[in-house]
Amino acid sequence: METNTSSIQTEMAEVLAPLRSVLARLEPNDIPLPEVAGIWQLFSLVRRLAGNGETLLAGRVAEAREWARSGYATPEEWMAAKAGTSVGEARGQIATSEQLGQGLDETAERMRQGRLSPQQAGIVADAAAVNPDAELELCDRAERDSNKNLSDEARRRKAQRSDGDDRARRHHRERRARRYSDADDKSHLHVEGPTSKLAEFFKALDRETDRRYREATKQGRREGRDAYAFDAFLSLVTQGIAGDAATSSKPKHLAMIRVDLDALVRGHVEGEETCEIAGFGAISVAEARALLSESILYLVCTKGVDVVNLTHLGRGPNRVQELALLWASQTCQVAGCYRTHTQYDHRIDFAETRHTRVDETDLLCVHHHKMKTFKGYALVAGTGKRRFVPPGDPDHPATSGSGPGSPRSDGSSPGPAQPPPPEPSQEPPPPSESIEERIGRLRASAQARRRRAAGQGDLFGLAE
Ligand SMILES: [Zn+2]
Repeated sequence: METNTSSIQTEMAEVLAPLRSVLARLEPNDIPLPEVAGIWQLFSLVRRLAGNGETLLAGRVAEAREWARSGYATPEEWMAAKAGTSVGEARGQIATSEQLGQGLDETAERMRQGRLSPQQAGIVADAAAVNPDAELELCDRAERDSNKNLSDEARRRKAQRSDGDDRARRHHRERRARRYSDADDKSHLHVEGPTSKLAEFFKALDRETDRRYREATKQGRREGRDAYAFDAFLSLVTQGIAGDAATSSKPKHLAMIRVDLDALVRGHVEGEETCEIAGFGAISVAEARALLSESILYLVCTKGVDVVNLTHLGRGPNRVQELALLWASQTCQVAGCYRTHTQYDHRIDFAETRHTRVDETDLLCVHHHKMKTFKGYALVAGTGKRRFVPPGDPDHPATSGSGPGSPRSDGSSPGPAQPPPPEPSQEPPPPSESIEERIGRLRASAQARRRRAAGQGDLFGLAE
């Protein structure tokens, strides 16, 4: 069938206009309750059809390489940025699109008719790509059963055709441990991979969970088994599977806590103050205090210190500078890029300056670092997250003539990132001690500790 591209574009534009107009005057409270559900279903159908259209096109979008021309590393990143969705969702859409292209015509046809949702199509296509005989039955089930049951059935039908070794290889390829924070700053860990690799761990986890559960019951404490499984999980990863829970372990934390000194002293955050484990999310000041007593950590104080202007006569940033950079940003400094695996980039070539200054250094992910080195892209002038433009762009530093940020003129002395020692008895300070006195005390003990523990930089694997 020949597709008339221009007619599709025209028709889509014609569809969008009335949809926009309806949405512009949509006042949920003005719609009589008996009509709300029906209208909701109409919007849901629009979303379903639009999502199916996206999925059908996703494979071709990847081929079209507009994402590469726009400076994205992968098509899914481009799609996520355009659609305002997650990269994982976009990746799934491309995978489904490619599976549909392997002859899953029935699934594709039901998507066109709006009988399957994009999510259902994804579940069906994933299994039918491995077991094509199951396609029709899974399509039928999708229309009448819950997605949970559809997933279960799809898994069974997929396994029927999976060669064991093949599957193990696939499971190995698809292994992942992914951590993320939800809107409440609670941390999640999602682990998937070959059962063979996880079985031993699961056994140990069950053993330890049972042990903790029995102990708690004996003491009259009662929480859900999942809560003890969490405790067991933590104790296993910190002590090793063979370890006995009774043996004490040395604390192994190596994290940066970002906390305003005022908040740390006061015991809670106020206003716009921060208290978080960098890269993970917010924690309470009480938790920060507890960690202070048992962790190897560096505190970057935000009160009265300048973390911007630090000079180091070497190629890489030193430890203090690295912490200052991490303080400013944990992700690639290209606007829209979320990568946390970053490299340091001298804004002015090191060969020219022979020094490393924090305010002349950017964090770039590997992808964007390569685009800068090999294709002449550059961050526009300024600091922090900002646009990344190709050579010739009016805002490109080479074109606009704006160099990197000029040195601070106030001549304020560097002195951030004093690594204060973990103080085991981190009681709230006596009320008589002022913040200034406390900073002074922390600095003095930090200097003493630095002299004692000169080798600690090795923990970060950094050359001084
Ligand atoms: Zn990046």
